[in-house]
Amino acid sequence: MNATNVDPAELAKFSELAHRWWDVNSEFRPLHQINPLRLDWIQTLAPLKGKQVLDVGCGGGILADAMARAGAHVTGIDLATKSLKVAQLHALETQTPHISYREVSAEALAAEQPASFDVVTCMEMLEHVPDPASVVQACAALVKPGGWVFFSTLNRNAQAFLFAIVGAEYVLNLLPKGTHEYAKFIRPSELAAFCRDAGLQTQASRGLQYNPITQRYWLDANTRVNYMLATQREV
Ligand code: SAH
Repeated sequence: MNATNVDPAELAKFSELAHRWWDVNSEFRPLHQINPLRLDWIQTLAPLKGKQVLDVGCGGGILADAMARAGAHVTGIDLATKSLKVAQLHALETQTPHISYREVSAEALAAEQPASFDVVTCMEMLEHVPDPASVVQACAALVKPGGWVFFSTLNRNAQAFLFAIVGAEYVLNLLPKGTHEYAKFIRPSELAAFCRDAGLQTQASRGLQYNPITQRYWLDANTRVNYMLATQREV
């Protein structure tokens, strides 16, 4: 394992909350709410039925589980032991088909089984690792030539600071204080550059918006705060 590319404090944050992953009214509510939106967008570009899919930084399995229910054969990986246990238990309890979870880093799995997935997803995870470019490289190595890799993270600008940290953590209490660290946010241009360097071509992007009054999320072209990038590995 590339033991250097992990921040133990980040894993501890998620492990502490692990028992609440599947409580839709918990700190993980935003992930539950955006899940259908991101699943839909992924599926419009890369239909998942019957595909080999890897979810990097899967946490309690919110997206991994939904992709398996959409017909994919899903492997979820994370380094937070408790979160993975919760993910496994949830899959057992709700009898999710074709899903397995492993405690392994993206870098280590890439060395073990390169070019073995049709689709790789890595959502809301890059902003928690010391070296996001290394994770992007690993995702590129894990996907088959021509396969899709999806990322989502937080942009780095004044609006993102205001919405993702001040708004979400301090005003609206959507997320625990300290969930996000501004310096680790990644501009779309930076993420696209990591992707290019890894042999991934950016094909599309979407921004995620939230209305605190209606408490609804939606996708549009505005990538100023939270955004997703769809990329394809060169053939
Ligand atoms: N991708 C999931 C969870 C996002 S929360 C979703 O969008 O629903 C961020 C996750 O990244 C947590 O589960 C945390 O344990 C994981 N994580 C943080 N650093 C990591 C690392 N170096 N390797 C793998 N997972 C990591």
